[in-house]
Amino acid sequence: MGLEEKLPSGVLLTSVEKAAGWARARSVWPATFGLACCAMELMMTGGPKHDLARFGMERASNTPRQADLMIVAGRVSQKMAPVLRQIYDQMADPKWVISMGVCASSGGMFNNYAIVQGVDHIVPVDIYLPGCPPRPEMLLDSILKLHDKIMNTKLGKNRDREITELENARLGLAPMRLPSPEGSQL
Ligand code: SF4
Repeated sequence: MGLEEKLPSGVLLTSVEKAAGWARARSVWPATFGLACCAMELMMTGGPKHDLARFGMERASNTPRQADLMIVAGRVSQKMAPVLRQIYDQMADPKWVISMGVCASSGGMFNNYAIVQGVDHIVPVDIYLPGCPPRPEMLLDSILKLHDKIMNTKLGKNRDREITELENARLGLAPMRLPSPEGSQL
């Protein structure tokens, strides 16, 4: 069945926002950023069994200027943090970040001074992927979720309105209160 059967009248109506989201979601190029053992699973995802190429993402860019997705695979040391930020800054806009594995997301078991306790201290993260290490299927699932996010990204005035609504919703949140012990003045 071809496109002609799906669209018998030959007319397709959509918005610029939807068309841009669709095009962006289907042209994501990842930058290589394997830092530790999670990178093995990342490499597996590019292999023939899991076939990252089905999303057109098999081309891992060795220059950040030709990449718009950073998959942080593994723990981030304090020494690597400024390098990671520099590479992120050099990537093309709009850009996205997947934090792959518990070490990248929170420092994991490495609760010490040498490891950044979450890569979101360095760059904004779009998708947090749990696991130690996450399986390639989990990475594929996070990529599909990222595609959804990209396809539903608002543009122009719609985006400004969405940001304002989110900010107002956060400002309206009641501060968290802990139950005070009986008789306490807290
Ligand atoms: S989450 Fe597990 S597999 Fe991934 S970098 Fe940390 S220790 Fe290694």
